[in-house]
Amino acid sequence: MKSNTMDQDDIIFVKDLTWSYHQKPLFNHVSAHIKKGKFLSVIGPNGSGKTTLLKLLMRLLPVPGQSIYYPDGDVIHYNQKQLARLISYVPQQSRIEYEFSLFECVAMSRYSYTDRFSPLSPEDIRIIDESIDALGLSDLRTRSATELSGGEYQRMLIARSLAQQSNVIVLDEPVSHLDIHHQVEILSLLRTLVDEKGKTIICVLHDLNAVSYFSDEVMLLDDGIIISHGKPETVLQRNTIENVYKARLSIVSDEKHDRMIISPLWKSF
Ligand code: ADP
Repeated sequence: MKSNTMDQDDIIFVKDLTWSYHQKPLFNHVSAHIKKGKFLSVIGPNGSGKTTLLKLLMRLLPVPGQSIYYPDGDVIHYNQKQLARLISYVPQQSRIEYEFSLFECVAMSRYSYTDRFSPLSPEDIRIIDESIDALGLSDLRTRSATELSGGEYQRMLIARSLAQQSNVIVLDEPVSHLDIHHQVEILSLLRTLVDEKGKTIICVLHDLNAVSYFSDEVMLLDDGIIISHGKPETVLQRNTIENVYKARLSIVSDEKHDRMIISPLWKSF
């Protein structure tokens, strides 16, 4: 039985969240405990509410009071800088058209630590360079953001999030536009951030195989309802997934690699 208050191992507690877009209800008394230092995948069909939930967690939409709690209390009481140090956002791919260099794009994340108009300190520059290096982008440091490939741009967004030094990183479909090599590279990096740096990753993913392989926890949404939330093997049950996605699936356990292989049968119900 889940408690109705924030647990000690929670980084975020969603309590009875009710939320509508222009009178159209989406979430109706939704609650969830999001655990610290875990990789949480948020899954569900298109339109089920994944992006909206992430935006509410980030307070990018007007959050009702007493609905979303962080370790220091109700999210509505955090100021922008406090929020930015706790949680950073890698949105669905949206490119900036200005001629900022990759370094400058990553540097923008440091404004939660500095005054917007003061110069970056040597410590800021060290953190920015380390983040760029961690994503293998050092050679592109001075390249204009408009001249990065899709994979490079995505890695730049993650470097920006790293340089923000938030405990929680929220990512909306970070690998959807990438080839398999870059998908593996980015998801492995996110996994390392959890395992070695204790970060919490909250990530919308569509590839259920990647979900099974990389996540500690999975939250399955359908039409604004959390259908299931728990370990991948608990949530990724054939009946549940087939009903929610309205698709036939084959699910096989790959014990050698401790994961499930999930593929559509390419037949609709
Ligand atoms: P998902 O990320 O799972 O695809 P979304 O959170 O984007 O789902 O959308 C959930 C529901 O909210 C959908 O029915 C969508 O049409 C609706 N919705 C999303 N954004 C808006 C908006 N800005 N105004 C009105 N309705 C919206």
